Amino acid sequence: MPRVLVFVQEVDGAPSSLGLELLTKGSSIGDAEVVYLGAGSNAAWSILGAHGAQVVHHAGAADVLPGAPLAEAIAALASAGGHDLILFGQAYDDRDIAGRLAVRLDRTVLANAVDIALGEDGVHTRHEILGGSKVASAKFTGPAPYIVLIRPKSFPAMAGEPAQPEVIPLSINQGTSPAMVLESHVEERAGPKLEEAAVIVSGGRGLGSAAGYELVEALARRLGGATGATRAIVDAGWVPYAMQVGQTGKTVKPDIYIACGISGAMQHLVGMKDAKTIIAINKDPDAPIFSLADLGIVGDVHKVLPKLLEALGNR
Ligand code: FAD
Repeated sequence: MPRVLVFVQEVDGAPSSLGLELLTKGSSIGDAEVVYLGAGSNAAWSILGAHGAQVVHHAGAADVLPGAPLAEAIAALASAGGHDLILFGQAYDDRDIAGRLAVRLDRTVLANAVDIALGEDGVHTRHEILGGSKVASAKFTGPAPYIVLIRPKSFPAMAGEPAQPEVIPLSINQGTSPAMVLESHVEERAGPKLEEAAVIVSGGRGLGSAAGYELVEALARRLGGATGATRAIVDAGWVPYAMQVGQTGKTVKPDIYIACGISGAMQHLVGMKDAKTIIAINKDPDAPIFSLADLGIVGDVHKVLPKLLEALGNR
C-alpha cells in the first residue's frame, strides 16, 4: 500500500473539516498518517482514527507562522519514512508549508486539485482552471513523494469504524519561523459555520445597500442557515471577507444555496456550484446565475424576500 501523509490543522479545538476531507481520501488510497498541528486531545485522536489515520505525528500548537518549522519537520519525516504522497488543503498555512516543503525535498507541488487517483502508472490529479470553466488533468512523472494541494469540499469527510491511531510527538523548531502570530480571533457568527452549513443564504450587489443585507440575515436565521456574500459586496464594505464565497473566498457545498441579487459571475459560481439545490432571485431574467439554478425567481429581492419571510412566518 502507498504511504500517504496528510496535513491536518486544529480549528476550534478539533481537526479541521478540510483536514478530515483529505484524510478520508488519503486513507482510501493508501496507509494514512497525519501531521497534526494543534494542541490535540484524546477526542481529536479518536476523530482522526475514525477517518482513517493509522499514525498521528503531533506537532503541538505553534505561536509562530508554521510554514518554515513544519516544512523542516515534514521534510525530515518524509525523507526517513519513504512516504509516497503528501496531501495539503488549499489553505493559507497549508500553501506556505507545501511550497517550502517542495523546495526542501526538491519536488514539485500540484496545486488547486479537485480530485486525485492512484493509477498503475502513478498519481493522477484533476484541477479546475479558468475559474472552474475547464478541468485539466495532470500526472506526476518525477520521483515520490508527490505533494498535492487540494481544494476544500473536493471530497466528503466520512468517519468509519472507531479506531485509535498511534500518536507520536513531532518536534518543530519554532525558531526557524520568520514571523510571529501576534493575535488571532475566533470568527464571530450567529448561525452555523459557512463552510459546514446545510443552508446558505447569500447576497450580492442587487441588495442595493448594506442595509439590504438584513433581509439575507433574516432569511438565514429563519432557515437555521449561514450567510454568504459576493466579492462585490465584500469590496463595498457591506459584509466582512469571512463571508465571501468564490474563487478568492470560501468553497461551499450546502444542501440549499439561495442567491439573492447575485449575477452569477464565474468567480462566484466556482465557490458554490456544487450545492445540491441552487435557488436564485434576480430581477434580470438573463442573469447567468439562472443557467445554474435549479429554481429561479425573476423579481426584485426587496419584494420577494419579505414575501418569503412572511410565508415562512405563517407556517
Ligand atoms: P453584480 O455582478 O453587479 O450583480 C448584481 C446582480 O443583482 C445583477 O445580476 C442584477 O440583475 C441583480 N439585481 C440588481 N438589483 C436587483 C434587485 N432589486 N432584485 C434582484 N436582483 C437585482 N466574486 C465573488 O463573488 N467571489 C469571489 O471569490 C471572486 N473572486 C474574484 C477573483 C478575481 C481574480 C476577479 C477578477 C473577480 C472575482 N470576483 C469574485 C468578482 C466577480 O467577477 C463579480 O464581479 C462578482 O461576483 C459580482 O458580484 P454580484 O453578483 O454581487 O454583483
